[in-house]
Amino acid sequence: MTRPHFLHPFAKPAADAASFTTIVRGEGAAVFDADGTRYVDALASLWFCGVGHGRTEVADAIGAQAKQLAAFHTFERYTNEPADRLAAELVALAPMDDARVFFTSSGSEAVDSAMKLARLAHARAGHPERTIIVSRTNGYHGTAYGGTSAQGIAPNKEGYGQLLADVVQVDHADVEDAARLFAEHGDRIAAVIAEPVIGAGGVIPATTEYLAGLRRLCDDHGALLVLDEVITGFGRLGSWWGAQRYGVRPDAVTFAKGVTSGYQPLGGVLLGPAVHEPLAADPDFILRHGFTYSGHPTACAAGLAVVDILRREELPARAAHIGDRIRTGLQALKDDGLLEDLRGDHGIWAAIVPGDRAAAVRDHMLTSGVISRYLGTSVVALCPPLVIDDADLDRCIEAMHDALQSTS
Ligand code: PLP
Repeated sequence: MTRPHFLHPFAKPAADAASFTTIVRGEGAAVFDADGTRYVDALASLWFCGVGHGRTEVADAIGAQAKQLAAFHTFERYTNEPADRLAAELVALAPMDDARVFFTSSGSEAVDSAMKLARLAHARAGHPERTIIVSRTNGYHGTAYGGTSAQGIAPNKEGYGQLLADVVQVDHADVEDAARLFAEHGDRIAAVIAEPVIGAGGVIPATTEYLAGLRRLCDDHGALLVLDEVITGFGRLGSWWGAQRYGVRPDAVTFAKGVTSGYQPLGGVLLGPAVHEPLAADPDFILRHGFTYSGHPTACAAGLAVVDILRREELPARAAHIGDRIRTGLQALKDDGLLEDLRGDHGIWAAIVPGDRAAAVRDHMLTSGVISRYLGTSVVALCPPLVIDDADLDRCIEAMHDALQSTS
């Protein structure tokens, strides 16, 4: 038994080094371990690798930028071309008019930035009393203190002491719960944050009516609607944004993961005018928020290359096909009595496994060469790269079939 020097995230600190699989190479929808075993990457690594692994055009873009200017900060008064170009691309794609972009290096930083900027925008507009951030049960918004406070997965909040004040969870499916909170505290609410499809909290798609209800409550009470699209952005739901899939207009959108497909750490927040205009109203006001690597040129070069691939290969449109094939496969497993249920949308799915066997099913699937992820005790998630072919999609379903039979 050897404990690795590397203290792994979301893993048992006591785990033996030998329990980790060393991934050494990736190609398309597959990755390979140190022994050369091929695995279908059925979760796009951690919900991020839309364009697939091993794309040399992305590696080349990163290499070229790193040689020219690997990094330089973007605090006053510096900028760089990849950051400016990517910001322009994202503004053109944004699901709201007149957006601006704030860059981070991760989804957690994006969420914390959105929470801070929502409060700050209200404060700058003369309403410093608007500090309440409303989030949803089962929501996952990362692991910085803002996102830890906002997330609705109870075990992820335990042991960290006092979390952020004025962050309140409402039921993820019942808009009336949010309505009750707004009725009581509407004039103190800064923002609502919601994932179009809850990811890590169990793969739970929102309904159009639910999101429209949140939009209406925000409009009626002067609050901002933030969509956390760290998983759902960049084509996962068949459009560039879940906002478009569900026909809801956000005031801000957090993104990360898919923007670079993970080739470089990058995230950010798309900000609509309701957020960025109050910040720019006073020409002498200084935004005292940001990260050393906000607008990191090499990360933004990766983002430009990935957005180009997504557009050129029309990968967002592929999510519909992926969704049809996974749904058909999972439905067949349910019809055979192997699955309790299934849920999902386009490129992101949950198989609901009977008997709290999700971890065992995940483990068995791994031995059949498919990497999935269990969430809680009963969900096994599938969210493959958008470039996955039908043969590999079928491998995912076959591996789940075998795992469900072998572990019953
Ligand atoms: N928000 C959502 C919806 C996520 O799924 C995640 C990560 O899975 C995050 C935020 C946090 O992103 P990161 O792990 O890059 O900090």
